[in-house]
Amino acid sequence: MRLEQIEKDPGEFSLTPNLKDYEAERQTFAWERVAESFEGLPSGGLNIAHEAIDRHANGERAEKRALVWLGENGEKREFTFVQMKRLSAQVANALASLGFGKGDRIFTLSTRLPELYYSAIGIFKNRSVLCPLFSQFGPEPILQRLRRGDARALLTTRTLYEKKVEPLLGELPELKHIILFDAPEHLDKRVLSLKQLMDGASDVFDIPPTDPEEMSILHFTSGTTGMPKGVVHVHKAIYNHWTSGRYVLDLHPEDIYWCTADPGWVTGTSYGIITPWLHGLTNVVDEAEFDASRWYRILQEEQVSVWYTAPTAIRRLMRIDNDPLTEYDLSRLRLIQSVGEPLNPEAVVWGVEKLHLPIHDNWWQTETGGIMIANYLSAPIRPGSMGRPLPGIEAAIVRRTDEGGVEIVTEPGKEGDLALRPGWPSMFRAYLHEPERYEKCFAGGWYLSGDLAYRDAEGYFWFVGRSDDIIKTSGHMVGPFEVESALMEHPAIAEAGVIGKPDPMIGELVKAFVSLKAGYEPSEELRRELLGFGRKKLGVAVAPKEIEFQDNLPKTRSGKIMRRLLKARELGLPEGDTSTLEN
Ligand code: ATP
Ligand code: MG
Repeated sequence: MRLEQIEKDPGEFSLTPNLKDYEAERQTFAWERVAESFEGLPSGGLNIAHEAIDRHANGERAEKRALVWLGENGEKREFTFVQMKRLSAQVANALASLGFGKGDRIFTLSTRLPELYYSAIGIFKNRSVLCPLFSQFGPEPILQRLRRGDARALLTTRTLYEKKVEPLLGELPELKHIILFDAPEHLDKRVLSLKQLMDGASDVFDIPPTDPEEMSILHFTSGTTGMPKGVVHVHKAIYNHWTSGRYVLDLHPEDIYWCTADPGWVTGTSYGIITPWLHGLTNVVDEAEFDASRWYRILQEEQVSVWYTAPTAIRRLMRIDNDPLTEYDLSRLRLIQSVGEPLNPEAVVWGVEKLHLPIHDNWWQTETGGIMIANYLSAPIRPGSMGRPLPGIEAAIVRRTDEGGVEIVTEPGKEGDLALRPGWPSMFRAYLHEPERYEKCFAGGWYLSGDLAYRDAEGYFWFVGRSDDIIKTSGHMVGPFEVESALMEHPAIAEAGVIGKPDPMIGELVKAFVSLKAGYEPSEELRRELLGFGRKKLGVAVAPKEIEFQDNLPKTRSGKIMRRLLKARELGLPEGDTSTLEN
């Protein structure tokens, strides 16, 4: 089996033999050397658009496919690097002609359309700030973010405009223009047609000098733990994007790459737009939402070799009890990476059994801008672990001290806050308009991520839970992930969400909400069986004392289980911000 082979000689499967010696690479790594991978702007400085598109368009990859776009209804469009260069130049000229420039916040609200992708590059070219919104947001979350983000323009489609934005116009006096991707002509002075603007714009745009520290992207977090934060990133973040593309995604020129994330979330921009193009790759974008057979067909027909997806999608594939390899030819696929939530060990095993490839977990956040910790193709996977820090990244387990500093937890297996040494290029530079909140993330020379984890003796990091989700029961600290993963080993369980429910005797009681796989029905008998299964796997202290069946667990639109909502509903408390709740 492939996993066994990988464990024996991981390097054999890696096209990045230098990471075969992980420790040596970490020791010799220097961020300054990454600069050599970039061309730099002819006018001076560093701009994402030049490194991702223009320099390839000016060189050997000019006629190579940059974007393969698959429309929801079966349409397929392809764009070369030269075409992307010209289209994004037209967008940049159009924005400049409207008076937009450095630092202006340009929001996007769209499904995954080609216009969204070349407009993003055009926004970078114009030194404006890309602020992506998720197309399925309702009017209230849109209004909230446009306001908080000081929106100057919004790029969207006609339908989304009419349905969600038009009613808000009176409340957004600072929003100068709405630019529609699909309107043939301007509607009025404020609501314009991108096509009409582009028709009148030159397809040549010389990017002005750009300071690597200039703001490039404003991203709102997923809102899993509360009100989403506006996270500020800069052009220099591409140092991390390029590096993780090399070490984690193992990108090589011949690869065909597919990241399933929507650019409304950070993975969809850092890894759905920027990283593949920094490496000059063909980037597949599917407009449609998840559909198992469609996804397998895309992997087969587009000959995807590197696939970046998320636990929520993998769990949905697992839920269908089929053998994809008997139906689809996935022989080009050589690497699967996952991010966004803890990846249950069960999912890694499923990958080996069903796709003959293990699934590699990695960890990062909107705030880190890029992947920080990963299971590399060139090293054995530890199922259930997030992996080890990238070269150039210093990670540690720490505890806050009463004096306001931190102490490092050196003992393997001991839990604490997952912390990173500040200074990596894609680190967020601010929470927009919330300087105090930003300051609070740092202590004793470390950035504290808000996640709890431990480190094993070999330096692998293991996710325990978000600090807010930790359950204190009978003197134990229980991370929901441990309980959820154990329950998922039961054949009936598709997904589990675990919370602590206040209890006068034991502090908090572990309660699990579970959804079942096809072919299983909720029953008292099954509930009792699952309680017993939990006790056997986890021991009485940690096992859930209550189990409730729930068809669909509440999730953010980026696919994360919202445990705070399970808890609020259980306790009859206010639900808090639900702007990112999936319907
Ligand atoms: P908010 O900060 O608004 O509550 P969020 O933290 O979910 O939302 P993101 O920045 O999109 O917003 O998600 C990052 C978080 O996702 C991490 O801090 C971590 O809790 C979780 N996460 C990401 N990858 C992994 C992983 N591989 N294993 C475990 N957890 C992960
Ligand atoms: Mg967060």
